[in-house]
Parts: sequence; C-alpha cells; structure tokens
Amino acid sequence: MKHFNKLLVYRRATQLAFIIFIFIVPVFNIFRYDTQTKELFILGQVWSLGLKQNFYADASVAGAAHVAFHVLFNAVLPWVLVLAIFPLLGFLTGRLFCGWLCPEGAMFELVDFFSLKLLGRRNLYGKRANDPDVKPGNRLFYGALALASAVLLPLVAGISLTGYLIAPQTIWQQISTGNLSYGVKAGIIGVTIYMFITSVLVRHIFCKYICAAGLMQMLFGWISPVSLRVKMDTGRSGECTDCLGCEKACFMNVLPRENKRDISCVNCGACIAACNKELGQGKGLFHYSCGEGCAAPRENSGHLTQIQPYPLQGEQKII
Ligand code: SF4
Ligand code: SF4
Repeated sequence: MKHFNKLLVYRRATQLAFIIFIFIVPVFNIFRYDTQTKELFILGQVWSLGLKQNFYADASVAGAAHVAFHVLFNAVLPWVLVLAIFPLLGFLTGRLFCGWLCPEGAMFELVDFFSLKLLGRRNLYGKRANDPDVKPGNRLFYGALALASAVLLPLVAGISLTGYLIAPQTIWQQISTGNLSYGVKAGIIGVTIYMFITSVLVRHIFCKYICAAGLMQMLFGWISPVSLRVKMDTGRSGECTDCLGCEKACFMNVLPRENKRDISCVNCGACIAACNKELGQGKGLFHYSCGEGCAAPRENSGHLTQIQPYPLQGEQKII
C-alpha cells in the first residue's frame, strides 16, 4: 500500500491556512497601516493612544498620569507583546513556525519542488548528497507550471502585501481600471524582486542566516529547556537501515541521525515521515519531544558516532 504521509498533509494545510490568513488580514483591517490616511488599523479599529483632547495643556499630576497610563497601555505594552511572539514561540516550539506556518518557507519548498523536477536537485548551484531521488518529471509541464508560479505568485503576494500599506479596496479599484498609482506599482514590483531573490537564489539560507523571526526562534529555542524538537530513539539506532530517507527529506540540511538538536531544524517532521515509511508506520526512529532545548550545529553529536555525515559533491555543506 502506498505510504500516506499524514504529517505532510497536515503541514501543507497549516501553511495554506496561514497564507490565507496573511492575505485576509489587511482586507478586514485586522492589522494594516494606511499610508494615505496615516491611520493604523488593529482588529478593525483605528488605533489611537486614547489621550483626551488638549492633554498637552494639562500640566497637573493627574494630566501627566493620564498621558503616562495611556502611552504605557496603548503603545508600549501592545508592542512588547507583539515583539514577544517569536521569542515565546521559539522558547516553546523551537522553529515550528518556520516549518508549519511561514509563507516564505512554503514558497521556498515549492521552488525546491520545481528545482527537483526540472534539475533533479534542490539547489541551483550544485547537487547535494542529500538531494532526494525524484522520478524525472515532464520538463515541459513542470517548466510551464514553474513559469506560471513565478509570474502569478509574486503578483498575488505583491498585491496582497501592498494592502498592508494601501487600502485593499483602493488597490483593486486601480487594478480594475488599469490605472495603477506609483505606490501600488512600487509595492508589487518590490515584492516581486524580493520574492525572486529569496525564493530562487537564496531560499533556506535565508531561513538560516537572515530571517529575523527565524533567528529569534533559534535563539530562544536554543536556550529553552522545554522547546519542541525532533529526537531520535538512539536505543534503537541498530534498526536503522541506512536508507538515507531522513537526510534526503530534510530541506534544511540537518543530519537528523546525529540527534544533535540542530537549531536549523524547523520541526517539519519530514524525517519522522521518511523513517516511518522505511521502517513501518509508528516504527520510525524519530519523534517529537519537548525538553533539553536545541543546540548549535555540529554540537552534541556523540550518540551516533558510527553514522558519518555524508560528504557533499562539489560544494561545502551549509549548516
Ligand atoms: S531534521 Fe527533520 S524535522 Fe528538522 S528540518 Fe530536517 S526533516 Fe524537518
Ligand atoms: S530514515 Fe530511518 S532507517 Fe532510513 S536512514 Fe534515516 S534513521 Fe535510518
């Protein structure tokens, strides 16, 4: 019977749901800044400090307390809470957000897929030892699909993300009349260039070294004693058939069998599914676990010294 990869189905569902969420946020004024009216919308309301009229004319202690209270509760604390999201996520779930929700991560995986179908490898610059074995696809079909995605996805993303700065109704009205303003054109072109560079040329290197949200999750996942991570059952390592499925599944180039709690791991679960496919559903050697935090790459690999990392062909491995 064909192996059913439940984790992958769930992960694609959460990625798609989050992409839809990102698209509808500005449409329903859940969060957006209108550069034309200079208003910040949060949860459907125009955000304001809530200061009374002519507050600056009130030099009394009560007047000062009024300003301090409203600035603290309407400005400082909300932004502290917003900024705490990624550290908190990292502390509790490691880089789960990157693997299960991040729209950019999903986009990079899509480009990985096209690269594999068209070039037989994930990377544009050379083959890696952990590139999955893929059946050669119909190049014309996948080439056309990749081209359509390269045009449509940045366009849709550009229109949607510009909605965080210009009212979505205004954008759609301009699109329907074909009369795009400078701001809308700049937004769409800017997002298109950004998506091309990150998705085609950089991809997961961006996740490892550049993305601020990813770095915050890495850092807090690293120091956390409780963060979620993928662990190998080292007591059963003798059952490993050395099929390399787990390493070929890992688009972050982690070596899951080293069991070293690599901070690049995005908890996607692809290695769990790959091992279950090889050893039988529920019998794989990997599982999710909370605790012991994460560690920097190339540390803590003492458990499985008999299993050597596989050398790269013609290029340096990026950890
Ligand atoms: S080690 Fe496993 S869970 Fe972590 S990124 Fe690689 S495939 Fe995903
Ligand atoms: S997928 Fe499982 S059996 Fe295959 S190499 Fe990885 S740990 Fe070993």
